[in-house]
Amino acid sequence: MIKSILVVGSGSAGLIAAISLKRKLPQLTIRIVRSPEIGVIGVGEGTTPNFPKHIFDYLGITRKRFYALAEPTWKLGIRFLWGPRGRFDYTFDQQLDRQWSDLSMPNGYYCDEEFRSVSLPGALMWHGKAFPRQPNNCPDIQGWHAFHIENAKFVEVLEILARENEVEILDGKVVGSDRLPEGGIAAVHLEDGRRLEADFFVDCSGFRSELLGRTLEEPFASFDRSLFCDRAVVGGWERTDEPILPYTTAETMDAGWAWQIEHEHHINRGYVYCSQAISDDKAAAEFLRKNPKAPSSPRVVKFRSGCYRRMWVENVVAIGNSGGFVEPLEATALMMVCGHVQTLLEMLSRSRLEPTPTWRSLYNDLAAQGWTDIRDFLALHYKLNTALDTPFWRHCQEDTDVSNIASLLEFYAENGPTGFCRYRLSRSENDFGVEGYLVMLVGNRAPYRARHTPSEAERRAWAQHRAQVDAAARTGLDVQETLSYIRHPGWEWHADTAVATRSSAPGR
Ligand SMILES: Cc1cc2nc3c(=O)[nH]c(=O)nc-3n(C[C@H](O)[C@H](O)[C@H](O)COP(=O)(O)OP(=O)(O)OC[C@H]3O[C@@H](n4cnc5c(N)ncnc54)[C@H](O)[C@@H]3O)c2cc1C
Repeated sequence: MIKSILVVGSGSAGLIAAISLKRKLPQLTIRIVRSPEIGVIGVGEGTTPNFPKHIFDYLGITRKRFYALAEPTWKLGIRFLWGPRGRFDYTFDQQLDRQWSDLSMPNGYYCDEEFRSVSLPGALMWHGKAFPRQPNNCPDIQGWHAFHIENAKFVEVLEILARENEVEILDGKVVGSDRLPEGGIAAVHLEDGRRLEADFFVDCSGFRSELLGRTLEEPFASFDRSLFCDRAVVGGWERTDEPILPYTTAETMDAGWAWQIEHEHHINRGYVYCSQAISDDKAAAEFLRKNPKAPSSPRVVKFRSGCYRRMWVENVVAIGNSGGFVEPLEATALMMVCGHVQTLLEMLSRSRLEPTPTWRSLYNDLAAQGWTDIRDFLALHYKLNTALDTPFWRHCQEDTDVSNIASLLEFYAENGPTGFCRYRLSRSENDFGVEGYLVMLVGNRAPYRARHTPSEAERRAWAQHRAQVDAAARTGLDVQETLSYIRHPGWEWHADTAVATRSSAPGR
């Protein structure tokens, strides 16, 4: 029976895992060992709605405390500067997987000319507002938001919460291990000679994957046939007069794409690129041309996309970058961390802390399916983007492997943006749902044959619906105004109400 757990690494993955384990299974002894010399990755600042849900609803950390400590800003979705339209918005609510009752077809069929303000969050994004205004002028903070959160600050906050929850944090570098006769790990060795035993190990050592990859030598399954990027230049600047946008921006670049993440006082920019298509120097030069305020020598981060074939082997489970990674085009890493932690916890509880191989095997299948879903969805972003005619983007259009979603694409090419496309997704639990796929297909003007020509009455009804959400959005509050409200001593938090998409625990 598992009585003690050692978490290796105290980046956001290790700390979220340790806090969650201790809060849900308080009888366990949870220790973290982390290497101050190696440090944390320092990037990873965009989230999806399952992140606030994990923090507030799953862990029970109060909004008041979290907002005061972590100072997040709100993210309503992603603005894609992408495809032949040049721009479209992907929100966390339903824009296209819905239909107004006085129209004969779902929303996507009316978006040929223009795809904007199709829902309230979409209209808020368009107008640069974070939330609608209530009759008393206060922001109506709905559940269809995620956060932008500074990585270093977030890790500091998690460390405070971990210590409060009686998680012991030790400094030391893992350099070796003792193996169990039946497989798995009995103890790890630290550089200073200490030996740390545990019944169960959570490997959160980031890209080094100390236990799963290096010690247990689990094979890595690369996504390099679908995702060609493998590096990023990263560099931000202190905000001056730029408004705080309520969304992440993903902008097409010559050999990849650039993110813009909005913190209260800081703007974080990065260019994800394919090292086969552009050199580090040329990528940095293109990045600096577009972002003259960025530091003149931006940091280069190397990565590989993919996941380990199994993420739970014997008594070791890898969570976070140590188990798998894809570029942050949909900011899915923390979503995966929260989902995997929840799944692990449920499995440990249901197996009464004596998980058998069938539990491990199920966990591995679910986690692998979750990664495959993300790979396929990101691959579609590349396949459809015709914004730039560069060798890299031609290669993406021609060679990105989307064979896993071929039947969905075939169905769409004939029938268009109907919700029936959901039955052509490889799994109904897909984290982005049919909504995500429809937004990518409609946003990128993917062609389909069954066009709908709206009648005059339908055109008027469509325009009226959009005008209504536009009007509500126009009078909304921007991020700065909303921050002032929630920092007022009289402000009281109530649980968010609206249902958000992209909120399920992945791989479950
Ligand atoms: C360019 C880029 C952009 C990203 N953007 C996003 C984003 O927008 N949203 C998002 O959700 N995610 C993003 N990510 C992913 C992000 O890195 C993760 O979400 C998150 O920070 C989790 O990191 P981690 O805890 O797994 O690893 P890390 O932060 O690297 O932490 C690893 C920990 O392990 C410790 N460690 C390593 N080796 C040893 C050892 N031998 N002994 C002891 N300790 C050890 C380290 O000291 C550290 O404490 C991005 C990643 C990259 C590369």
